Amino acid sequence: MGIAENLKAIRESLPEGVLLVAVSKTKSQAEILEAYRAGQRDFGENKVQEMAGKAMSLPPDIRWHMIGHLQRNKVKYLAGFVHLVHGVDSLRLLEEINRRGAQENRIIDCLLQVHIAEEATKFGFDAAELQALISGDNLAGLAHVRIRGLMGMATFTDDQAQVRREFRSLKTLFDRLFAGNPEANILSMGMSGDYEMAVDAGSTLVRIGSSIFGTRP
Ligand SMILES: *Cc1c(COP(=O)(O)O)cnc(C)c1O
Repeated sequence: MGIAENLKAIRESLPEGVLLVAVSKTKSQAEILEAYRAGQRDFGENKVQEMAGKAMSLPPDIRWHMIGHLQRNKVKYLAGFVHLVHGVDSLRLLEEINRRGAQENRIIDCLLQVHIAEEATKFGFDAAELQALISGDNLAGLAHVRIRGLMGMATFTDDQAQVRREFRSLKTLFDRLFAGNPEANILSMGMSGDYEMAVDAGSTLVRIGSSIFGTRP
């Protein structure tokens, strides 16, 4: 199947209210345009320079999602245009996004990345750190960032029950942290291999690459 057909099939399988971010890392501008022509507007990249280069030459109404690990010294390359930063994993990074957001006269939407004990990546906050960050006064002075919710990845495993458990615990944490905060309404979880389980558990945003564009090298 082609990109347009893949997109259509995935969209039809998603409940209303779940945003599909097409993960286009390593994919060409022609492939991205094919998805764009099929109506896709939200795209995810995991490398800052790659995203900035694509953003410069592709249609300006594309919403670019930074889904990878973001280094502080690279924030300046995306602060002017990024739609949502998914992988905020430290207060210092948040402070740098705030600083660059101020320079660009923007408020930059961010998700806090949750670290699950057994997952592949070492990045992210654990539940206690998130609780401390959100209930403390560290965020009060950061007028140019807006915390919109959480991003998480399940452990890379064939054990479906474990993946389901992890998604459920992310959802529980999300509800607990952001009860009464209507601004924080994004729970980014689910990829090609596990998005159905993520959606069942309460995901509001899925990040799907290979099921749309085919496998990556
Ligand atoms: C690459 C990537 C995805 C998409 O993965 P697929 O398995 O190709 O759908 C989603 N989220 C993050 C953080 C990624 O790096």
